[in-house]
Amino acid sequence: METTAYRVLLYYQYVHIENPEELTAEHLAFCKDLGLKGRILISEEGINGTVSGTVEQTEQYIQTMKQDPRFANMVFKIDEAEGHAFKKMHVRYKKELVTLRLEDDVNPLELTGNYLSPEDFYKQMQEEDTVIVDARNDYEYDLGHFKGAIKPEINSFRELPQWIRENKDLLEGKKILTYCTGGVRCEKFSGWLKQEGFEDVSQLHGGIVSYGKDPVAKGQLWDGQCYVFDNRISVPINKVEHVVVGKDHFTGEPCERYVNCANPECNKKIFASEETEHFYMRSCSHECRTHSRNRYVQEHGLTEDQVSARLKQIEEKNKVVTG
Ligand SMILES: [Zn+2]
Repeated sequence: METTAYRVLLYYQYVHIENPEELTAEHLAFCKDLGLKGRILISEEGINGTVSGTVEQTEQYIQTMKQDPRFANMVFKIDEAEGHAFKKMHVRYKKELVTLRLEDDVNPLELTGNYLSPEDFYKQMQEEDTVIVDARNDYEYDLGHFKGAIKPEINSFRELPQWIRENKDLLEGKKILTYCTGGVRCEKFSGWLKQEGFEDVSQLHGGIVSYGKDPVAKGQLWDGQCYVFDNRISVPINKVEHVVVGKDHFTGEPCERYVNCANPECNKKIFASEETEHFYMRSCSHECRTHSRNRYVQEHGLTEDQVSARLKQIEEKNKVVTG
């Protein structure tokens, strides 16, 4: 039996868009018509999207986009897939393509870091006086990152400028390399670094995803996996060796499997094997485990007695572990 081949496209373009809200509505109709699924943001400053579809659907999308002069040079990163990577098709208008909310906004078309090809980035990372800054969130870093990269302790991109200002000494006088998933965040972030007065700033062109596909870099010096914002959650990058950096939230064992805490008010991403997920009722803490709207308890239809029996087991286990 022949199976249908699917693809996931990842792309962005900083370009001035005259009527972004109008384009948003048109574009949604166009994508739905094609049968694509995914998430696309459109703003005055450009477009940023991830979509999935069959080879034919995605090919038609690329060809149509390239006929539009605004997107004629847009780079599409293409991953093979076994099915859709999304449940629905969303196209949304947003004020910013990436949320930095700077008091003094940066236009990457006017100010941005040097672009480094994956090959040059690979070489530059190994030079002295170089500092590598991860421009993503902490949970993305925790699943995988470049060896030795600085991890800003942030939960969202807009916290990054503040974090950098507080940790300036890590970057001062260094050659700064920045990277993110597909490159869209670094365009702005590296521009902002220059605006802040850092002189030697470069960004990984095409992001981690392109780095993993490069025939020379082969994803080397990348540890773990790359977090992606679709149903796949993670994709492999390093084609030479695979080092697991994630650690099971409960046991500390190597683990790359993300689940969300079952307390809907917490929803924190934690690493857990299937075994620890079930034993700890997919909850990051005792408070989350006993939350009145715990999703794990609801999904499994656990009775109060069953929950307290499990809580007791967990208490016993923790006693053993902490001795
Ligand atoms: Zn929690």
